[in-house]
Amino acid sequence: MKFKPADKIQDLQYFGEFGGVNPSISDSSTYTFLSAKTMFDTFEGNAEGCYLYSRHSSPSNLYLGEALAAMEGTEAANVAASGMGAITPALLQLCQAGDHIVSSRTIYGGTYAFLKNFAPRLNISTAFVDITDLEKVEAAINENTKVLYCEAVSNPLLEVADIPALSKIAKKHGLQLIVDNTFSPLAISPKELGADIVIHSLTKFINGSSDTVGGVTCASQEFIDSLRSVNDGANMLLGPTMDSFRAASILKNLRTLHIRIKQHSKNALYLAEKFEADGLRTVYPGLKSHPSHELYKSMMNEEYGFGGMLVVDAGSLDKANALMELMQEKNLGYLAVSLGFYKTLFSAPGTSTSSEIPEDEQKEMGLTDGIIRFSIGLDNDVERTYEMMKGCMKELNIL
Ligand SMILES: *Cc1c(COP(=O)(O)O)cnc(C)c1O
Repeated sequence: MKFKPADKIQDLQYFGEFGGVNPSISDSSTYTFLSAKTMFDTFEGNAEGCYLYSRHSSPSNLYLGEALAAMEGTEAANVAASGMGAITPALLQLCQAGDHIVSSRTIYGGTYAFLKNFAPRLNISTAFVDITDLEKVEAAINENTKVLYCEAVSNPLLEVADIPALSKIAKKHGLQLIVDNTFSPLAISPKELGADIVIHSLTKFINGSSDTVGGVTCASQEFIDSLRSVNDGANMLLGPTMDSFRAASILKNLRTLHIRIKQHSKNALYLAEKFEADGLRTVYPGLKSHPSHELYKSMMNEEYGFGGMLVVDAGSLDKANALMELMQEKNLGYLAVSLGFYKTLFSAPGTSTSSEIPEDEQKEMGLTDGIIRFSIGLDNDVERTYEMMKGCMKELNIL
């Protein structure tokens, strides 16, 4: 039977303290116990339903974690204060000094900087590989490798990871496969496809209102317990804890995620097809011209489409900048990083986050200076949006 992530979220039910239709927000950092014995047991992790201290866990964070675990089909989840606050503890929990990671070379800039510049201080090294070349991925594994890391759909060219094939490689070599699914919530279910750990930046599509940062790690109960261990859990000890009010607010936004993703995908596909037909170089997994179109189709939960991220080549950095400024002036969207907002967001990633890739390969991949990354918004009338964007492009001689 096909996995239905939105149904899993819908089937959950939480009531507030007074029968409220939303769970009550736990406005406390610490919790009382009726008996000293229960307090001791909770410290040891053996008192189900009891709370000790909110850095460890809180009711509001557990509700949100439970909903995200249901969405990804994992046993458990741990919410964190940001996407990076989920990613770095997960990696540090799995790797010790001397260990090695094989990572996609096209990953989020912060994750890349952590693996490239920070983890080596702890004597954790990383081989960055072309994640679409499975032979190179396997060849990069050595006897110290513990983790295979990738994004389901990655920056900036929306490369798609073959999760079932990567999972096979990970299992063969006893590695944990971590998939960052920030670009493709609901549309791709990495755990169903063989990933061990699924991470999201909640800051993006899942929260969808650009009002907070947040993150989550979805995994086995055993791994989530290890992250929270009072003795050696990276989330417990490094302390990137989400605030209860934010957790409650993200949970409410999560309930409309399925509707939003469908609209983001519908609008992005419409614009991608139009721009491509107009002769612009357009990168979108929903286009037949995308190198991973068939692969994405083979992995996707169909009703959610190909996502809201779209890349267009304006020809040069100057043209890209002028176009973004003009589109902002016409209120078509904002010149801003991040993604998943109701409004279209655009930025020019350039080649800055892909320094691991040799220049000739960057060219070959189509990683040029003129590319604009769009996070397409929830516009009600996307034909009107297209006509206005086309007007901007004509004005600047891009079309
Ligand atoms: C934004 C982002 C992150 C980091 O998340 P924060 O919430 O900003 O810490 C990680 N991975 C991807 C793919 C992202 O887009």
